[in-house]
Amino acid sequence: MHHPTHLIHRDLRRTPPVAVCAFGLQVRDSAGNTYLDASGGAAVSSLGHGHPDVLAAMQAQLKVAAYAHTSFFTTEVAEELGDRLAQDAPGDLNHAYLVSGGSEAVEAALKLARQYFVENGETQRRVFIARRQSYHGNTLGALALGGNEYRRRHFEPLLMDVARVSPCFEYRERRAGQDVHEYTANLLQELETKIIDLGPQHVIGFCAETVVGATSGAVPPTPGYFKGVRALCDKYGILMIADEVMCGMGRTGTLYAFEQDGVVPDLVALGKGLGAGYQPIGAVIARDHVVQRLRAGSGVFQHGHTYVGHPVAAAAALAVQKVIRRDCLLGAVTVRGAAFRRMLREAFAMHPHVGDIRGRGMLLALELVQERDGKRPFDPDLQVHAAVKEACLECGLMVYPMGGTIDGRRGDHVLLAPPFIATEADLQQIVARLADGLERALARVRPG
Ligand code: PLP
Repeated sequence: MHHPTHLIHRDLRRTPPVAVCAFGLQVRDSAGNTYLDASGGAAVSSLGHGHPDVLAAMQAQLKVAAYAHTSFFTTEVAEELGDRLAQDAPGDLNHAYLVSGGSEAVEAALKLARQYFVENGETQRRVFIARRQSYHGNTLGALALGGNEYRRRHFEPLLMDVARVSPCFEYRERRAGQDVHEYTANLLQELETKIIDLGPQHVIGFCAETVVGATSGAVPPTPGYFKGVRALCDKYGILMIADEVMCGMGRTGTLYAFEQDGVVPDLVALGKGLGAGYQPIGAVIARDHVVQRLRAGSGVFQHGHTYVGHPVAAAAALAVQKVIRRDCLLGAVTVRGAAFRRMLREAFAMHPHVGDIRGRGMLLALELVQERDGKRPFDPDLQVHAAVKEACLECGLMVYPMGGTIDGRRGDHVLLAPPFIATEADLQQIVARLADGLERALARVRPG
């Protein structure tokens, strides 16, 4: 549909198709095209579209109370969601602060972390450490934390200083012949040196995505990496902040991706899969000691938005959590994620332009390269990721490709994050359409 619009769309020169109906893995537009949702939008729709339990829970809550400002009231549904999140989180991650999305969750985590030290009289602590090739959201604090040059470039003068270390990105950064343990040890050494150079007494925390989502494409950490990070945070008394906005809430087969790395961060940012797209909701989950310090100090978290703790959003998220548990969807993610990966390997392992197939659970990606052997990326001017997205849509498939130049490195990847309810037949269909879409796209961009 191309008509004049009063909305500011992402692309100001183009109105995207109008979604008129979405159910399960299918989305239909007003022109009658249907698309199979292999990316859950942007790794959001973990239960697919139109789930009856979630719709019913939201409707019921709308009748109880559509809104209650948190300076006046709490609500039963928000309390129940807090209990559920605390109960299901490992360790003493017993406290939830409900916001409206991923960037807000990251902002709240940054402020909570800073206030934690202020309450202790450590007002000199003002630096966060994060990794290059990372994305933590688009509000100014979250954007400053992230290392995504493309998203930062217009706003650099407005962004707070953040100290950077290398990403943990085995495919791109581990030297040929270098042992993975040595690679990991070097990364941890770099982090320790950074902390020492900054002066540990000035550092608030280290923040990283457990499995990196959009900037690099479903990049899992190397074995032992996060255990090493946790040990360094403990050694120097700084907070470990996990951004699980994309990889959390079951997407990797455990409720939190870091459970597979044997660590418990001090603060966790959630978004996307928490409400699975039914409502805008995010959360910060905090350990006992963080909240205790504020409770024993000023007694107030100096933060808040009009929509924190929104009851209908809480109802949606609570219903999503209940469905995940009742329908054993974490197990399904592990089993079907492994099947999906096998299918992707069968289809693309020998593909001349697929350099890597990676990820965890149902958060997977293909890295696209000009040449497999030297891992040479495509020329960014070719915009391969954009061509893949468009060609896949033509084939009736939603995938989430990204690319461009980040941190001086180039690369294109296709992120795949199907709903947890996808069947094997759905996954086969996704792989078949992706193969078609990829060939179409490559035929368009390949020189000669
Ligand atoms: N953190 C990560 C890891 C993300 O992937 C995203 C969104 O893509 C965000 C934060 C920001 O979340 P939102 O877009 O909901 O503000």
